[in-house]
Amino acid sequence: MHTDPDLFDRRIDRFVTERVVSALYREHVPLTVTAWDVPDEPVPFVEALGQGYSPVAPGHRWGPAWGTTWFHLTGEVPAAWVDEGAAPVGTAVEVVVDLGFSGVQPGFQAEGMVWTPSGEIVKAVSPYNHAVPVRDLSSGHVDLLVEAASNPNIAGDSWFTPTPLGRRGTAGPDPLYALGDVTVSLRDVTVWELHQDLLVLVGLMRELPADSTRRARITAALERMLDVVDPHDLAGTSQAARDVLRPVLDSPAHASAHRVVAVGHAHIDSAWLWPTRETIRKCARTFANVLHLMDDNPDFVFACSSAQQYAWVKEFYPELFERIREKVAAGQFVPVGSMWVESDTNMPGGEAMARQLVAGKRFFAEEFGLETNDVWLPDSFGYSGALPQLVRLAGCDWFLSQKLSWNETNTMPHHTFTWEGIDGSRVLTHFPPVDTYISRLSAAELTHAERNFAEKGVASSSIVPFGWGDGGGGPTRDMVAAARRFADLEGAPKVELGSPNEFFTRTEAEIPSPPVWSGEMYLEFHRGTYTSQARTKAGNRRSEHLLRETELWGATAAVRGGADYPYEDLQAQWRTVLLNQFHDILPGSSIGWVHEQAEQSYAEVAEALEKLLEQSTAALVGQGELELVLNAAPHARDGVPALGVAVLEASTADPVTVTVLDDGGRRLANGLVQVDLTPGGQVRRLLDLRHDRDVVPAGTLANVLQLHRDTPRQWDAWDIDVDYRRVVTDLLEATSLEVVESSDSAVTVEVVHETGASRIVQRITLSAGSPALEVVTDVDWHEQQKLLKLAFPLAVHADRSASETQFGHVFRPTHSNTSWDAAKFEICAHRWVHVGEPGYGVAISNAVTYGHDVQRGVGEDGSTVTTVRQSLVRAPLFPDPLADQGAHHVVTLLHPGAGIAEAVTDGYRTNLPRRVVRGGRGVEPLVQVSDSSVVVEAVKLAEDRSGDVVVRLYESQGAQARATLTCLFPAVEIRAVDLLERDLDSTDVETSLAETDGTAAPGSTARLSLRPFQVLTLRITRG
Ligand SMILES: [Zn+2]
Repeated sequence: MHTDPDLFDRRIDRFVTERVVSALYREHVPLTVTAWDVPDEPVPFVEALGQGYSPVAPGHRWGPAWGTTWFHLTGEVPAAWVDEGAAPVGTAVEVVVDLGFSGVQPGFQAEGMVWTPSGEIVKAVSPYNHAVPVRDLSSGHVDLLVEAASNPNIAGDSWFTPTPLGRRGTAGPDPLYALGDVTVSLRDVTVWELHQDLLVLVGLMRELPADSTRRARITAALERMLDVVDPHDLAGTSQAARDVLRPVLDSPAHASAHRVVAVGHAHIDSAWLWPTRETIRKCARTFANVLHLMDDNPDFVFACSSAQQYAWVKEFYPELFERIREKVAAGQFVPVGSMWVESDTNMPGGEAMARQLVAGKRFFAEEFGLETNDVWLPDSFGYSGALPQLVRLAGCDWFLSQKLSWNETNTMPHHTFTWEGIDGSRVLTHFPPVDTYISRLSAAELTHAERNFAEKGVASSSIVPFGWGDGGGGPTRDMVAAARRFADLEGAPKVELGSPNEFFTRTEAEIPSPPVWSGEMYLEFHRGTYTSQARTKAGNRRSEHLLRETELWGATAAVRGGADYPYEDLQAQWRTVLLNQFHDILPGSSIGWVHEQAEQSYAEVAEALEKLLEQSTAALVGQGELELVLNAAPHARDGVPALGVAVLEASTADPVTVTVLDDGGRRLANGLVQVDLTPGGQVRRLLDLRHDRDVVPAGTLANVLQLHRDTPRQWDAWDIDVDYRRVVTDLLEATSLEVVESSDSAVTVEVVHETGASRIVQRITLSAGSPALEVVTDVDWHEQQKLLKLAFPLAVHADRSASETQFGHVFRPTHSNTSWDAAKFEICAHRWVHVGEPGYGVAISNAVTYGHDVQRGVGEDGSTVTTVRQSLVRAPLFPDPLADQGAHHVVTLLHPGAGIAEAVTDGYRTNLPRRVVRGGRGVEPLVQVSDSSVVVEAVKLAEDRSGDVVVRLYESQGAQARATLTCLFPAVEIRAVDLLERDLDSTDVETSLAETDGTAAPGSTARLSLRPFQVLTLRITRG
């Protein structure tokens, strides 16, 4: 007989889906079901237990969006299914629960947690994991409760259709689900095993070349199996069918077969298309499943990141946490990632990025007594070039991602490589070539991993993270069954269950010199995430700087005045800020509920930190009527020393003048610059008098508000597509322009623009003694799918822009010579962007903007025009149709004639508004640094609460630096430590301790040698 591959494919497919699947259970007996709908937010088990339950039947409509319904299941196991306390050989008794599961991906629909009546968690039920084995048949009785969550499918059919379901206020009361069958059932284990055999063999057959011997052998075996098995009696013939398949399943893998370390995993977004309260339940459900699976499979390993998720389980499910703790000790439940959450890495500031690692590693050390050695970020939207150094300084050796497989334009050339950061630090990095972090261990995925693996010539292995994520339930018994069949199978990679640590240890030994990728790993996708949900971003930036101030003044008050340092409060506020840096919160890609909560939590953080600040500054400055300025910045400012408190120095600068121009515009001047504003509030001319240089190219206008159409092809909140540039409206006409403040020290012009339903008010200020022009933009935003940019064309010939990132800056080309350059059409910067040519540059700093673009063009006279634009606000409709509506406040500082050093200073200045208090005395800083290129990023007390002072600093110019740090309090030891404040073997610090009459005195110094962008943490023990 001839075998037609296509016809056979269809034949075997129908056999599996129709005959085998329907024979997985021999019998079903319906259970009695009663239900109680929780009136509002979820309640604990004990509260649910005592409620009045009403009878329900299959088809019962339940579950409005975000609701919870408790189902009580009771019934008897038929006596025929129990033979001496166990199910008959080849069978198993299970409760099967269909909550009304749809075809939507698990994790994006209904989910349930199964409890015993005494409050023990059994496991979860989800679409592809909805059986609950009845392990104890002694009573013959079934009595279980299911806490069912009616989470809505926010993504809909298209993934991008606007929906009201993402906010409680708009989600509506309609039930979303119809209860399916709820039964106690007799599973045919042999048929199930046959099903697993078939999934593997049929899947592998389809992946093999049509002319391969192996494929022909598998096909032939499957054909013989179909002859042997009786489609009307699977129960009676499935063992014979399995016997026929045995030889093709026993045929071993090739000697050079790729090796897959299959790591059980569940990528649970800490908030996304659900709020954090549901994430907590998703974690509990998934981890319960994982523990259940571990009991049956002692070699199954589950890698789990995000200390925050463990902390939630510890708080809300302490019994489950203890079971996790046991499995961690046994090496089956493996904490990975070292971070508090899987954060975004484009936008968190330097100190916050460090604290993600500190908080994560400390939690794992304290709870489990272990040190994690990797950073695990499979899904964040690009990776900052500052990360390799921070990873190393946190005591980690390995980095894992895969997100750059989502690049729209270019393909990353490596999967196993060395990643070199902006300072030269290197870290072994792996991008699982399977290109997913929710594998099902299918033949298609495994063979793709092998084909795709760039380093397969020199490296044997790759990681495949498998398991449903986002509350879909994690790894299943089917996936483990697949892993066993793929362990040593001809034509497929060899699959071993294992942990990422095993993979990295093996790979380190295998490739002593991997290929190198240098600098940031820019995701060529999701560029809207630097701008979407701008208030969430503003909250992050503001909180980071408030934390800096609170720690600095708290530590200063502790050292100078013996005040208590607010360890607990600071930890709580940090944890909130770190959680909100999760890779769907800070990027603005969550539902409205999440962003409402984020904004609320930032307001609470600000309130708590302002209170702490008030306490420490009161302790520092005492009673009095002096007007004192607190300078939390790392550079002296207006006569106030860096990190100190002093009376403001009287300005000796030339006064600022304002005159009316012929066209109705205004001219502001202060002896350093002259600024000509049009009647619309744009800068027509910016003359840098110090350099006799026009900064705004002739024929162009700066400070132009530009409105773009913003309708991406997909992923609305995530994406800005380059096509947005094709349609633009310049908002040149102002409703009004007036001088609202005019004194010798400052002139402010207020300009009002109206567009659509939105109103934009700019306050443009020139101050005495400063060449920088400040623009404060208040937007009352009521547009949809529009992107508002603020443009500054500049007369500088810049081949590249510099953008601040954590502890340094990153250069990106201003041209689009190659596809890699062109893909960076929207970029992320922290507090500043700098463009320049030799001898002259311009810095544009900001408070709260992250999205930018920098383009080059040609001016009227043929010279290069470099245009820097800030992305102020957009208004995507998915997943939050109300995204960005309302008020936004952005501060921009345009600083002509600035180098990188001035940009760094401006960045701190713009984000640390002047803080003035009344008191009796100034305060000397705790430390002074001799070289302004060495920047103090944090001053705090040590995490171990020993009272040691910790100072974190970094080299900010990208050049080697030598500097002296002087301690202005008595110190008995100054030493270099890592981010976790543990001693480092370092030659970068040479200390000289000051003493007076044998006791420690102020004046101890540390001579520092820093390489470009080096981060150095000093631990100073007080005398
Ligand atoms: Zn994610």
